[in-house]
Amino acid sequence: TARKIAFIGLGNMGGGMAANQAGAGHVVSAFDLSQAALDRARAAGCSPVASVAEAVKDVDVVITMLPAGPHVHQVYSEQIIGAAPSSALLLDCSTIDVETARKVAGLAKAAGYAFADAPVSGGTMAADAGTLAFMVGCDEADFARIETALEPMSRATFRAGDHGAGQAAKICNNMILGITMLGTCEAIALAEKLGLDPVKFFDIASKSSGQSWSVTTYYPWPGPVPTAPSNRNYDGGFATAMMLKDLKLAQDAAARAGAATPLGAQSEALFQLFDRLGYGGRDFSGILQMLRGRLDD
Ligand code: NAD
Repeated sequence: TARKIAFIGLGNMGGGMAANQAGAGHVVSAFDLSQAALDRARAAGCSPVASVAEAVKDVDVVITMLPAGPHVHQVYSEQIIGAAPSSALLLDCSTIDVETARKVAGLAKAAGYAFADAPVSGGTMAADAGTLAFMVGCDEADFARIETALEPMSRATFRAGDHGAGQAAKICNNMILGITMLGTCEAIALAEKLGLDPVKFFDIASKSSGQSWSVTTYYPWPGPVPTAPSNRNYDGGFATAMMLKDLKLAQDAAARAGAATPLGAQSEALFQLFDRLGYGGRDFSGILQMLRGRLDD
């Protein structure tokens, strides 16, 4: 049955996600601060509105896809909670810090709402295609209807645990990704210096204990994985600035929780350097060129 959905935050990710909700036959009231984003949403079958308050009136589900924790806290505490009907399901799909996710969940719950942190894995292509993976932190009793509400945008939805666990899963997963990518890049740079062909090294590492997602589906040297950004000069893909954001969230969380994450810290420092050198817009696997001393190539 058709649902009434408010979609707040229609950027690179939210635009495609809202379009998929409308495409599935749901009625989508869309709001963003940017007029261009509202125009794109209209073209995709959503109904643009002039405020969050207007968007969330009488809806079944509220979905937010905002830049960071402060935006999420402000929009929920000042504009959604109290304005949306208390029967509405509130789903924040932004990537934010665990603490803010738990704080917002507490505010929502106290006001009688079901809330979930539901950050995504997959980039803008998956957002457009409706093939994102969602990592959900919520009360167990709410999960079935959350999964149903996310379905038009998803290829898989996991309940990670209670509130905040979705964000925890997201930053822990991406910390592995940052670390394995750097390990893969260092190994390729060393292989090259030792006279070992990095393409031959792919054949070996992808079938040996060095194997990881960074090797087999995102190899940072051109050739072996044709779909990897290494084949198009590290254009598109997963921007270094985005990886850096997630690594910073992981380090902040580790400091608060007292977890030892020395490799996560090193990864943050190295991606920070690559970003400072002016490559924040490049795919994160392009850090290989920094390690090779070939940033000008
Ligand atoms: P984006 O900057 O393209 O979009 C964010 C949108 O939110 C913008 O259109 C902005 O105008 C809007 N916005 C900001 N404050 C607002 C407010 N108060 N009210 C209404 N709208 C407001 O960012 P994005 O790439 O779509 O990313 C969104 C979230 O998804 C981030 O948390 C990001 O970390 C996460 N994410 C992004 C990717 C990716 O590949 N881009 C992948 C996974 C997760």
